[in-house]
Amino acid sequence: MTELVSVFGEIYCVPAAEEPLSSDIGVFYGDKYLWLFDVGSVEKTVGEIDTRGLKTACVLSHFHPDHVGGLGGISPEKIYLGANTLKYIGRGTPVSGDIFLHDGEDILIFPLPSTHAKGSLGLQIGRCAFLGDGIYPAEKKGGAVYNSGILKEQIAKLKSLSAEYFLLSHDPKFLYPKGEVISGLEKIYSRRTKNSAFISAE
Ligand SMILES: [Zn+2]
Repeated sequence: MTELVSVFGEIYCVPAAEEPLSSDIGVFYGDKYLWLFDVGSVEKTVGEIDTRGLKTACVLSHFHPDHVGGLGGISPEKIYLGANTLKYIGRGTPVSGDIFLHDGEDILIFPLPSTHAKGSLGLQIGRCAFLGDGIYPAEKKGGAVYNSGILKEQIAKLKSLSAEYFLLSHDPKFLYPKGEVISGLEKIYSRRTKNSAFISAE
């Protein structure tokens, strides 16, 4: 059985790993579904998460293999993904606007404007929101950068969420107060210049 780490209330995670590179897997036991946010890259790890007899619904944050590669290890009844991720996965429900659900907690599946990966999704469950790699920059030739227009939209989206905590992939601390994440992004946005669409992440 895959060991879960407690994050907040009924929210757990399988922490990210380096060898092989695998994202965190967010886990929430609803009344009807076991919710997974990302599935990591290792089929056996995601396949051995205790389902407590529930059907599985998963939300894929973006198409990168360390987040979606383990999908073959489970048989989810529902897969929510962005249109860009759908091109790689070939099945599932594309999400182009906010989807509100209730399963034990209020759940919101939302598109997250992201420089890191086009078509990223986030998942808010109660007081927490999983953001995956969504707030990270993208690697360009000159180094890690943010697109300033996308960053502006992202900050607005994050501010609109009711969640009090944001959960960030590949980060050992994982759980951050919402305000701390937004002020970090606003600091980066404040460095934008008129002559470039990009802002260095350094
Ligand atoms: Zn990624």
